[in-house]
This record gives sequence, C-alpha cells and structure tokens, in this order.
Amino acid sequence: MARLSPDEAAALLERFQRHLRERRLPITRQRMAVADEMFRAPDHPSVDEIKRRLRAAGEPVGTATLYRTLDALVRGGLVLEHDFGEGFKRYEPLSSSSAHDHLLCERCGRVIEFANDRLERMLRMTADEQHFLYRRHRVEVHGTCAECRGRDLESLTGGRPRR
Ligand SMILES: [Zn+2]
Ligand SMILES: [Zn+2]
Repeated sequence: MARLSPDEAAALLERFQRHLRERRLPITRQRMAVADEMFRAPDHPSVDEIKRRLRAAGEPVGTATLYRTLDALVRGGLVLEHDFGEGFKRYEPLSSSSAHDHLLCERCGRVIEFANDRLERMLRMTADEQHFLYRRHRVEVHGTCAECRGRDLESLTGGRPRR
C-alpha cells in the first residue's frame, strides 16, 4: 500500500529538490540518495534500516546527514514520521493516494497497513459531533500478529508429550 509508483516517486523527488532550493539548502548527491531510497521504500524503515539499504546500494550516508535529510523530508510533507513507541522512529513516503492506518505487532515488530472506510467515516462523524473540522487522523492498533499467534499455538501443542 505504501509503495509509490515510479512516477509518483519521481514527482516527490522533484518536490524535494524544490523544497531544498526554496530553503537555500544544498542539493547534494547524498541527500538525493536518501530521498530516493525513502521514496522507494515499500515499508516503514527505521533510520538504521535506511542506513543499511543505502550502504547496500553503494551510497553510504553519514548518520548526521541521514537525520538532517529525513528531517527535511518530513518538514517538506514528503515523508511521514512514525513513533510507534518502539524506542526508535520509522519513516514512510507520504503518498497522496494511500491514506492508511497501522497494526503493530509488539512481538516481532511487524507493521501491517490497513484502510477502512467505516473507520474513516466514524472518525469524521466524531469530529462533526464536536464541531471539529476534520483534517486527518492516525490510528495505531497494538497487539500480536497472526504469525506470532500461530507460533504461540505451535509451542503450546509442541510442548505436549508425543505419541
Ligand atoms: Zn508478530
Ligand atoms: Zn504505513
């Protein structure tokens, strides 16, 4: 859901260049590499993960530059920053077409995306009732993913003496 189309990624990259230019910030190869990697991310990587991917792509970027570039991307409204309470932040490209919320597995750290029209309508109605002008929302569901639950069941049955 979060993965951008190549056109969308190119458009965001262009918007980022404009954003840097407007703020008289240098458009460096490293900054562009970070933005490019970010717009290509199909998931919600942490800073460490982005760093690892850049290194793997042969574009190593220092931590300070990485943080500064991510900060500029977030401020420019091109990347969304998440704090899911894991002790580190996660990032994802902000696509205009894919508003979604997240399920977070507290066991394995998996982040699952979902979109739900009924939830969206309910939140809009809730805002209306408070004479509140709805703009956007964020919903996080914390718990245990299907795979981790499956593993729990296996270890339960596996613990029984075999025939
Ligand atoms: Zn899990
Ligand atoms: Zn997401």
